[in-house]
Amino acid sequence: MPRYARVIPDRAGDRALDYLIPAALENTLAPGARVRVPLRARLVLGTVVDVLDESAVKSPREIQEVIGGAPLIRPKLLEIARWIAEYYCCPLETAMACVLPQVVRGAEVTARRRNHVRILRRATEEEMAALIRKAPRQADALRAVMASTEPRPVAELAETAGVSESVFRVLERHGWVAVEPVEVSRDPYGGESFLPTADLCLNTEQGIALQAVREAVTNPDCASPFLLHGVTGSGKTEIYLQGIRHALDLGKTALVLVPEIALTPQTVERFKGRFASIQREVAVLHSHLSAGERYDEWYKIHSGGARIVIGARSAVFAPLDRLGIIIVDEEHEGSYKQEEAPRYHARDVAVLRARRENCAIVLGTATPSIESWHNTSSGKYRLLTLSQRVDDRRMPVIRVLDLRRASRGGDAVFAPQLLAAMEKRLAAGEQTILFLNRRGFSTTMLCQVCGHVCECPNCSVSLTFHRDAGQISCHICGHNQRAPKVCPSCRDPAIRHAGVGTQKVEDAVRKIFPAARVARMDADAMTRKDAYRLTLGAFKDGAIDILVGTQMIAKGLHFPNVTLVGIINADLGLHVPDFRAGERTFQLLTQVAGRAGRGEMEGEVIVQTFTPSSPSIQFARHHDFEGFVGQELEFRQQFGFPPFARMVLITVRSQVRERAEFTTQTLVRRLRENVPAGAVVGEAATAPLEKARGYYRFQTTLRGPAARPLATAIQMALAKMPLPEDVFVAVDVDPVQLL
Ligand code: ADP
Ligand code: ZN
Repeated sequence: MPRYARVIPDRAGDRALDYLIPAALENTLAPGARVRVPLRARLVLGTVVDVLDESAVKSPREIQEVIGGAPLIRPKLLEIARWIAEYYCCPLETAMACVLPQVVRGAEVTARRRNHVRILRRATEEEMAALIRKAPRQADALRAVMASTEPRPVAELAETAGVSESVFRVLERHGWVAVEPVEVSRDPYGGESFLPTADLCLNTEQGIALQAVREAVTNPDCASPFLLHGVTGSGKTEIYLQGIRHALDLGKTALVLVPEIALTPQTVERFKGRFASIQREVAVLHSHLSAGERYDEWYKIHSGGARIVIGARSAVFAPLDRLGIIIVDEEHEGSYKQEEAPRYHARDVAVLRARRENCAIVLGTATPSIESWHNTSSGKYRLLTLSQRVDDRRMPVIRVLDLRRASRGGDAVFAPQLLAAMEKRLAAGEQTILFLNRRGFSTTMLCQVCGHVCECPNCSVSLTFHRDAGQISCHICGHNQRAPKVCPSCRDPAIRHAGVGTQKVEDAVRKIFPAARVARMDADAMTRKDAYRLTLGAFKDGAIDILVGTQMIAKGLHFPNVTLVGIINADLGLHVPDFRAGERTFQLLTQVAGRAGRGEMEGEVIVQTFTPSSPSIQFARHHDFEGFVGQELEFRQQFGFPPFARMVLITVRSQVRERAEFTTQTLVRRLRENVPAGAVVGEAATAPLEKARGYYRFQTTLRGPAARPLATAIQMALAKMPLPEDVFVAVDVDPVQLL
């Protein structure tokens, strides 16, 4: 019988302490349990990582409390946390922290209770008559309670009976009813009902794909992960839905991951609608939930009350049992990578989880990541292809406009061909989406006389002009200041805004087409919680002609009446110092283009660019994914980039420049002394984003045939290297952002 528990207190890194298990808990306490333990003079929360028969500690202190009965981190997820800690080079405690949502982990929120009224003794007709004479309001209240078949909330009954809530307390004193607290769940979709939809009849390619998925769900033992490559509008979601149905039929559960930005009401509706009969067993985890809602959704899953979970990155840790299928939609999306410790990639964790839980996994996308595509060639993943749009609708025609030649009247945002196309849509009553991956009014405030550019005092980026607020602000740290009227450097009033942001696009559209109904969707316009839903609703209902937006409108949305998509500047992502720049541009253009022509009418896409011959633009234009990966893989292989090598990025930051630089140089030297064979350590260099939030940043990269040995070498080097005060090191395994 284990008598001791090894506990890592929260925020204690890897420092585990042994505690005595109270006698009453000896049989039940297991790894993964959340406990409250004494630490010095305080009580703190922690996680049990092991139970032991013996402990080397002389007289360990006793565990005070176990939170929530059964272990909150189930064994499979604890294993995954251990894997994350090792693979992504972080303390186990950091990995365990991300397995539980903070509301659950912090044990601060509790279930919501509301007083319900339950009937104890039904009044006879005579009793009721007497009560009506003596106390008519009590009679009304009692009648309302007797009329309901089950206990109901006091507030509701009071409303029905037209009496105040205190009347029920009087009834309780007289022994008619009991008033007692009942746990109620905060269901964010409680008030909504979803129209049930039926399975669609699949086309041949879909049929083949679904058959393979169903087989893997039934018999996951030797199934490898699927990469479902289907052009936008090819009906991938239908495969997900029917694959999930099959899992449910077998008594299993399903986990669906989508990028946060695609977790729209439309997406949720598609799943809740298809499974309308078990709507309450479809749990949704996303960042807009209140703490209480998140707590309830999580506990619903934990206690077996959910059969389908839909969520963004962190939902990969949803505590589902009997997993039958995991779906990762838009698997190529960079937002699956967490950009703070633990720097895990949810797609990769999902693949690992599927293996550990022995369930099927489908990675779906119109533009597979180079890594996943490579995995299909090496046999690690199995490729399923949907090459046609549903109903054989044609892919939209993509026209590339060379901005160098297009006659642009000075500052013009649109080339004449794009304007003409917009005009045509307005006249026909069709809708247009204008896409620009940069919010704000303009990118920089630039002095025409001395060339001064307003820069952020904390970060090495220029400030973006936001006309509505009359301010310039930093998109890295949020620094804000009034836009200057004269140049801060030479005092000339010729300071102007250069470059184009979404606000400026919106402005230009309104000026050119004063009668058009225009809306903008970006992080600035969507600060209110329901703004997103309202704007999308209005667009869907045809109350908006032209929608201007950032990434937010690029993903997963489905509007049949959109026949024109304009990409204002395709070059924005292209000239950044990142080996994935070309891949991202190709993906973005393809995704955005996929928004056009999703209905009966044919779609057109117009791409404005200064580099029309760039391969990512040309391949996207011809809908030629394989052509694109072909040349991209060649480039990656030639320069030894992933997927042909594994990469680790180390970023060192400090408020004192020299300290960051010196630490990076020392680290590089140490690493070079003991990296594994075949690995290469890069130079210590300033990061492309040299300064952020007041910290100077230096970087180095490691590349090698496998990630694990690199991580081990880094951990060993760091362990032997005490860091100066105010120097922080971030280790990013399989980095996605290289800035
Ligand atoms: P994707 O996820 O690949 O972009 P969707 O799953 O959103 O594509 O499908 C696009 C549209 O086609 C949706 O409206 C969907 O309901 C419809 N659809 C999918 N499969 C079929 C089918 N077999 N027959 C008819 N319509 C279909
Ligand atoms: Zn800044």
